[in-house]
Amino acid sequence: MPSSPPAAPPSSRHSGIENVEALTSETFWSPRALPDRLLVIGGGAVGCELGQAMARLGSKVTLVHRGSRLAPRESRRASALLRATLEADDVDVRLNTSVERFVSATEARLSDATSLAVDRVLVAVGKRPATAGLGLAEAGVTTDERSRVLVDSSLRTSNPAIWAAGDVTPLPHFTHVAGVFGSLAGTNAVLGLRRSGDGASIPRVLYTQPEIASVGVSPDDPEAEGCTVLAIDHEHLDRAVAEGRTSGFSELVLDGRGRVRGASVVSPRAGETIAELTVAITTGVSASTLGGIMHAYPGYSDGVYNTSIRQLQREFSGGACGAAVQLLRRVTRARHRARERLGGGADAPPRA
Ligand SMILES: Cc1cc2nc3c(=O)[nH]c(=O)nc-3n(C[C@H](O)[C@H](O)[C@H](O)COP(=O)(O)OP(=O)(O)OC[C@H]3O[C@@H](n4cnc5c(N)ncnc54)[C@H](O)[C@@H]3O)c2cc1C
Repeated sequence: MPSSPPAAPPSSRHSGIENVEALTSETFWSPRALPDRLLVIGGGAVGCELGQAMARLGSKVTLVHRGSRLAPRESRRASALLRATLEADDVDVRLNTSVERFVSATEARLSDATSLAVDRVLVAVGKRPATAGLGLAEAGVTTDERSRVLVDSSLRTSNPAIWAAGDVTPLPHFTHVAGVFGSLAGTNAVLGLRRSGDGASIPRVLYTQPEIASVGVSPDDPEAEGCTVLAIDHEHLDRAVAEGRTSGFSELVLDGRGRVRGASVVSPRAGETIAELTVAITTGVSASTLGGIMHAYPGYSDGVYNTSIRQLQREFSGGACGAAVQLLRRVTRARHRARERLGGGADAPPRA
């Protein structure tokens, strides 16, 4: 049974790629020899992860990406760090660039007017649903221009007796999304329920080194307007310093009530750290609550903890909370002074 096939590069009709034995995320694993020169087409998660891995194994990797930044769904800061990381691994990253034509099986002409000698080509420009020939239109199931099955928030299609989940829908393409939403679609269908999936707190992780993990609203999203963005660079994180992995950061997007609406973490095992923030977003937890919860030291989750403590400090130094703290300090000082005047000294036990 076929799984959803990898998509071809958008310009494939003109590119001569049919003359190249291009690899995809499915066939990538078959060659036994390490290519000397690998061209990766696509700067999304798969292109970046496999491009970095192959560079570290010893291939000379060129990564060509049509867009202006890698992993465009991540924040600008995370994208820029990803690019710097790949370049530090000697990946030749070409942004705003595409393959114009394969002159031969081993030579690619790029839109930046350069030619590239290549031994293998990996096409990593996404997948497309294998819905053709299923008779979905006849069944009254609406698909979009990319053949994806459209669903409502309860995963029901335009045919009220058919539900769908996973990569066949426009929902984010992750195993955890397919699993959770698939289970939701199944129970809705079998039990006649209309439960909705939570699309606002879907964690995503790029398994590069370091990992790039995020959830919820990105600081660059329009929804982040009016939110506060707090971050700490991992140069100030003891675990990162101890391991010499200080290039990352922890970043929180907080709404007007200090609740976590989004987060981005770049560090080793960021995919684990993001779980805490996914729980926070899903349950409406505020950063000051996170800052009041003990975190084991020294860990990468200290990045979240220290950022949350910054929010606590902001709250203690401003607004009604700040005013209450100032008042309590004044009252406590006055009590100390009164005790001293009465001869009890600052350390004397309080009078009944
Ligand atoms: C290289 C790569 C790396 C990835 N890494 C990650 C990752 O690290 N983390 C993550 O969360 N996600 C990752 N993903 C995405 C993840 O694999 C998908 O989101 C997930 O597999 C989607 O599950 P699915 O069940 O919708 O589709 P699939 O896993 O593609 O399963 C679809 C199934 O349907 C079957 N099928 C197809 N057509 C028919 C038909 N007509 N009738 C019956 N059966 C049919 C197929 O044989 C297949 O078994 C990665 C994807 C790729 C390509």
